[in-house]
Amino acid sequence: MAQILDGRALAKSVEGELSARVAALKEKTGRTPILATILVGDDPASATYVRMKGNACKRVGMDSIRVEMPEATTTEELLAKIDELNANPDVHGILLQHPVPAQIDERACFDRIALEKDVDGVTCLGFGRMAMGEPAYGSCTPQGIMHLLNHYNVELAGKHAVVVGRSAILGKPMAAMLLNANCTVTICHSKTQNLAEHIRQADIVVGAVGVPELIKKDWIKKGAIVVDAGFHPTETGGCGDIELAGMEDVAAAFTPVPGGVGPMTINTLIRQTVEAAEREAGI
Ligand code: NAP
Repeated sequence: MAQILDGRALAKSVEGELSARVAALKEKTGRTPILATILVGDDPASATYVRMKGNACKRVGMDSIRVEMPEATTTEELLAKIDELNANPDVHGILLQHPVPAQIDERACFDRIALEKDVDGVTCLGFGRMAMGEPAYGSCTPQGIMHLLNHYNVELAGKHAVVVGRSAILGKPMAAMLLNANCTVTICHSKTQNLAEHIRQADIVVGAVGVPELIKKDWIKKGAIVVDAGFHPTETGGCGDIELAGMEDVAAAFTPVPGGVGPMTINTLIRQTVEAAEREAGI
């Protein structure tokens, strides 16, 4: 029977540890870690994500500052807001909710975030440092996946990992993290030919495509580790990017949807913000 990589349970236990660290920091320095979230426009899904991040801060005793900007915001206005938050000594981490409205240069805005406040791991500088094995906060979803794999003692060195998806926030940093953990990494994307053949070779499969159940159970090698980053609401609750029904008979371990990768993303964001606050306090 396959092991369930239970992100919900791990996130809950990490929150317990973070609450203790936040309380210790308050006692020692009188300061509370603060995450600033920036929401531009009125996309309801983005508003929900930002609210969930604020709630996660509250659960561990952190504060959050919620910045909301109108749909018509310009790149210059957003850059000015990021400069203001970079300069604010009370703010330890900055999260710019993706996606921003089309008229904004999102890459320029991400890259304006000061490295020490880039707790969401979105800057080119942070990505480059992470890829080179230098200290930096990783992009939260792949970093959360690494946390989950390490927690369950999944052996990575020498394994063939196939990452399906190459986005800046997920596929690319995931591949770099697995490479740093001594996996042999294949990255697949929308132009990849014979996707099924690549996946059949994989000891570890990461689905990060944004297409419901694109990756079929039949393609998974017996005994593989299966990580599904996708989430698509359905009438029965939701599904991921991988066909998970019956996966317990094929995989050695897999992340459920929901309750696998999803909870680890916000958990990583708040953990990295606590780390930023500790670092600033010299702890
Ligand atoms: P994205 O930016 O849309 O990137 C999707 C990637 O998948 C692209 O690299 C694309 O290739 C590739 N792709 C699309 N169709 C494909 C196909 N038929 N065959 C092979 N590759 C294909 O998406 P993302 O932001 O990385 O998100 C990926 C998934 O993770 C989504 O399901 C999303 O909901 C989920 N996600 C979850 C969390 C979380 O907190 N749990 C966070 C972020 C994302 P090209 O580069 O060639 O276009």
